[in-house]
Amino acid sequence: MELSNRQEQIIEIVKENGPITGEHIAERLSLTRATLRPDLAILTMAGFLEARPRVGYFYTGKTGTELLTEQIKKFKVYEYQSVPVVVKEDASVYDAISTMFLEDVGTLFVVNQYSCLTGVLSRKDLLRASIGNQELDAIPVHIIMTRMPNITVCYRNDLLIDAAKKLINKQIDGLPVIKETEIGTEIIGRITKTTVTKAFVELIMDEHL
Ligand code: ADP
Repeated sequence: MELSNRQEQIIEIVKENGPITGEHIAERLSLTRATLRPDLAILTMAGFLEARPRVGYFYTGKTGTELLTEQIKKFKVYEYQSVPVVVKEDASVYDAISTMFLEDVGTLFVVNQYSCLTGVLSRKDLLRASIGNQELDAIPVHIIMTRMPNITVCYRNDLLIDAAKKLINKQIDGLPVIKETEIGTEIIGRITKTTVTKAFVELIMDEHL
């Protein structure tokens, strides 16, 4: 995050004189305590300063990069997951391609009659099945999908950074967010490369602070 001149000054004062009360910081800057309040709130929320009741402000000693890392490590899958798009196992390759276009997604999840996860379909899975094949209506997706138990998944309380690592390590575009139930694996969300890009942009735009 970009600090204002005044915020930089406050950090310097606390660095040299902490613990120091808000009143004393204000005196040194010839400002009122009220004027300073928003800056102190921002610096405390962002983690540069720590406020202890009846003692004053301390400098935490954390650099911008450390604080950014701390922020990123707080992102959870459930805060960013999007809605999963699914097709039935007996849907045709033609239907799956139509769904991919209509829903504007790159990964489809395949479900059985109980709406439980059984497979994944990527763009290239569908392209591969289409090459030289006229009968796309006749091929059910369960024949060409990547199937359980070979599906990489994540859970709503996982860290977004761990889900992002799975995308990279497995060289895939998306992960289903799942919940195990008595009837099977329920799909409750979707994490994709776009999700991670959005979180990254949001962080830089400071919306998360
Ligand atoms: P594309 O094949 O269009 O480049 P991906 O990189 O996502 O898209 O998919 C590569 C292969 O990995 C495909 O065969 C796909 O079925 C499979 N795949 C995609 N997502 C997953 C997942 N979450 N778990 C396991 N396999 C997956």
